[in-house]
Amino acid sequence: MNNLNKSDIYFHTAADHLQISDRIRTLMLTPERDVKVQLAIRLDNGEIGTFIGYRVQHDSARGPMKGGLRYHPQVDDEEVRTLAQLMTWKTAVVDLPYGGAKGGIAVEPRSLSKGELERLTRKFVDQIHDMVGPDTDIPAPDMGTNGQVMAWFMNQYQKYHGFQPACVTGKPLELHGCEGREEATGRGVVIIADRLFHQLGQSLKGKKVALQGFGNVGSFTAKFLHERGAIVVAITDVRGGCQNPAGLDIPELTEYAKTNNGVQGFPGSEPVTNEQLFATKCDLLIPAALGGQLTKDTAPLVKAKYVVEAANDPTTPEADEIFHERGILVVPDILANAGGVTVSYFEWVQNRSVVHWPLDEIRAKLEQRMNAAFDAVWQISQQSNVTLRTAAYVLGIGRVAKATELSGVS
Ligand code: GLU
Repeated sequence: MNNLNKSDIYFHTAADHLQISDRIRTLMLTPERDVKVQLAIRLDNGEIGTFIGYRVQHDSARGPMKGGLRYHPQVDDEEVRTLAQLMTWKTAVVDLPYGGAKGGIAVEPRSLSKGELERLTRKFVDQIHDMVGPDTDIPAPDMGTNGQVMAWFMNQYQKYHGFQPACVTGKPLELHGCEGREEATGRGVVIIADRLFHQLGQSLKGKKVALQGFGNVGSFTAKFLHERGAIVVAITDVRGGCQNPAGLDIPELTEYAKTNNGVQGFPGSEPVTNEQLFATKCDLLIPAALGGQLTKDTAPLVKAKYVVEAANDPTTPEADEIFHERGILVVPDILANAGGVTVSYFEWVQNRSVVHWPLDEIRAKLEQRMNAAFDAVWQISQQSNVTLRTAAYVLGIGRVAKATELSGVS
């Protein structure tokens, strides 16, 4: 399915609401720069491996462009373009002084050795270093990348540009990283889920949750759901899944998943597929894996009354419509998973002033930003009688449109 057109549907719904002119819409939808580079590296077996790398700089009306770097076999032009655009709206929803970008390499990172991954990352930096930087475009971890990849990125970038720790975020703590960056997206998701139930006069505590995904975002989401008293009844990861209607013991499951290469087979649980997970009897469904998971085929299966999107772009417009008709409330990705980029911003601010903030300060600032964004989106949705997705787009694209207009186009 064409992701680009798909996300434009959400954009135009909100743009109609805001009565944004066609001229400004075209400016806002067209990426500023879209590059594709060939990455040839020496493989461990002596042969040459070639890969394609992408970086899309979508919009800089509100500041330097910001967004992750994804290593995944499905990465292509269209996916990166869609995700770059989502970053522009996301940074605006949480009111960070950024625009949006996204990058990626079409590769299965698990099929490469550590040395090969390092050479691939350094080659990518060689190819794009003159178009990124602390004041232009700041990459960060995304699916298939982590602090180690960011450390290689920074090291290679600095060979060209000197000391520039703010050129990338999500770095290890030992290399100008930020406390709480690794947990930030999952923590943000749970702050948002908590706020949602609070607004509804209910509590996250005691709510039954089904969670798709147990990577960085999924595992921290599970941890913080458990800490706040929610009952996680089903989890799937790339290899399989496990369920227990009475609740999964998350600390034990986390340990189990480390030694058993995934959650499948967790003692005391039953296996579960993704389709079965969507159909699980629960209050809240959290997709925290790949995009495009909730479709016209899977949305009718959903039993939860609430969906909080931890993944980027997990719901197709057809599925979104189905949820709306069925009275299922969806908290969109550009709000729900903005915790990661918010703490990336804290890291960038610290790097630029060469200071280090403690974890409790980071967590408090994150909680405050996420709650403020949720409340602003909630208010628009109530006042204008629109879905939370449309409300988040109205808030995000409204800010970008204003900045675009004020800057003027010569
Ligand atoms: N990759 C994350 C996202 O999709 C974080 C981006 C960042 O920190 O710049 O929001």
